[in-house]
Amino acid sequence: MTINEIKNLVRPSVMALKPYSSARDEFKEFDKDLIFLDANENPFSNGLNRYPDPQQTKLKERLSELKGVSVSNILLGNGSDEVLDLLIRAFCEPNQDEILILPPTYGMYQVLAEVNNVKLKAVNLSEEFQLRVENILNSVSEDTKILFICSPNNPSGNSLNSRDIESLLQQFKGLVVIDEAYIDFSSQASWLNRLQEFPNLVITQTLSKAYGLAGIRLGICYSSEFIISNLNKIKPPYNINELTQQKALEQLNSTEVFKTQVQQILTERNVLERELRNIAYISEIYPSDANFILVKVDDATKRYNQLIQKGIVVRNRSNQVLCENCLRITVGTTEENTNLILALKSIK
Ligand SMILES: *Cc1c(COP(=O)(O)O)cnc(C)c1O
Repeated sequence: MTINEIKNLVRPSVMALKPYSSARDEFKEFDKDLIFLDANENPFSNGLNRYPDPQQTKLKERLSELKGVSVSNILLGNGSDEVLDLLIRAFCEPNQDEILILPPTYGMYQVLAEVNNVKLKAVNLSEEFQLRVENILNSVSEDTKILFICSPNNPSGNSLNSRDIESLLQQFKGLVVIDEAYIDFSSQASWLNRLQEFPNLVITQTLSKAYGLAGIRLGICYSSEFIISNLNKIKPPYNINELTQQKALEQLNSTEVFKTQVQQILTERNVLERELRNIAYISEIYPSDANFILVKVDDATKRYNQLIQKGIVVRNRSNQVLCENCLRITVGTTEENTNLILALKSIK
């Protein structure tokens, strides 16, 4: 796609928008030792009495270094959920445009479409949880602005075939959002390396899974400078609070902890996959490229309740298409997984 085609995808009102300019936008040198009387803050210092950096520059610089993407290609959100919402709000005209999702997949795409009065089209994945490229392309209309691809996919756990994704990036004339929430657990490369090749490519990542910081709410969006600048226009000025910025920076500087934990989770996932094969009422263990495993059982509601009785909570995904009688199990610590296996073996 050309940059002009991308420009035509943005909602006209967003194209024309002049964003709110905060005190910290107008005077940016807030690291300097100056007297700040411009933002109606309380002057008595407690570490948090000042507004946070609206552009999160330090954090973006660290991400830029780690991921090899420039700062102008990064937008941060209050979780990826905020990023996904900003994308819909920047590109989809309510009551007119639509998004395309590929069930079974992450539930937030649908919720965000509904909240924003944006139409939803769905093309199911194949039985192997892979993309049906022809069906997807055939269901696209002029109003289809965004295609959401989740890889590794939640709840199935597998990565989607990269040749299929590439083919969609080339043929679909809208934004292709690749949700890489689980990419750090994956054997597949991130699409980040291909950002320059596809002007319609948007990648979302998060600190909520492999980085162990679901509580601070930090989502990351990587895309072209043009797309990022339009998302920047509509984001709330101070959407990433000071504590989150500090904690995220700290975590991104301790990459050893991150690597060790990811490795441990992957080792545990293998153990769990092997142990699950010995449970008679589990008929299918779907291959996982993430930190969870989807399994098919004889009666998901019954098994779910039995596990609750044993003090273990998994996710019942039975109501999703292609996931009849499926439970989604997150990989825990060695001890938690051992308890899970013991519980699964003890229930009749
Ligand atoms: C967990 C998850 C996220 C994370 O969302 P945050 O708002 O960043 O916590 C995003 N996408 C998918 C598919 C997920 O499973």
